[in-house]
Amino acid sequence: MGEMWNLWHGCHKKSEGCQHCYVYRRDAEFEKDSSIVTKTTRFNLPISRNRSGEWKVPSGTLMWTCFTSDFFIEEADEWRHEAWQMIHRRSDLRFFMITKRPERIRECLPADWGEGYEHVTIGCTMENQRRVDERLALYRELPIRHKTIICEPLLERLDFGDGLGPWCEQVTVGGESGAEARVCDYDWVLGIRTQCMAANVPFHFKQTGAHFRKDGRLYNIARRLQMQQAHRAGIDFRT
Ligand code: SF4
Repeated sequence: MGEMWNLWHGCHKKSEGCQHCYVYRRDAEFEKDSSIVTKTTRFNLPISRNRSGEWKVPSGTLMWTCFTSDFFIEEADEWRHEAWQMIHRRSDLRFFMITKRPERIRECLPADWGEGYEHVTIGCTMENQRRVDERLALYRELPIRHKTIICEPLLERLDFGDGLGPWCEQVTVGGESGAEARVCDYDWVLGIRTQCMAANVPFHFKQTGAHFRKDGRLYNIARRLQMQQAHRAGIDFRT
């Protein structure tokens, strides 16, 4: 549950996981150009008040932040400072965002960030080995209080080397959805789970994706069953 806060909209494809980006897919239905980044009407949502003068978003709400763009995209540089101010002001909420641009995080943090705001999680996507090699060490060293790795859509077997550890709060794995989805193999999922268990890092198998291979057999899984099937596997690991 929680509240979606898409404060800006539009993005540029950054890595292999972006190939079938749902923002692009959904915008295409409305003939909207997803590569144009614009502030949305919900930009001020965290500090908006209702007629009684109370916050529209109640204390304790989990804010799913920037899910139709990337919080660290260049075009948002001029707006991000104000966004950080709102985030800082609403320290009674929790903010959760995912980026494919960890190399931009350091230069985009607010002056009073220190080792990170306690109520902010910044996750990083690592969908294939190329992106693990490029992002893992860099991301691990960033001053962020809550870090989490997202392997979604998982595109191949991954090797984190000795890069995982207590600094990472969870690794989440999932396949790709949509008509053109690429295959996700259960062996790759289990391989990540094994590495998480060895490093004592929580692991979550979120969803199978549309084309799921298990023991060499390919399954086409309807959207509404993808999370359920992953849950049924019962392979989540908690420390
Ligand atoms: S970074 Fe995210 S929002 Fe941007 S193109 Fe890639 S998948 Fe889409």
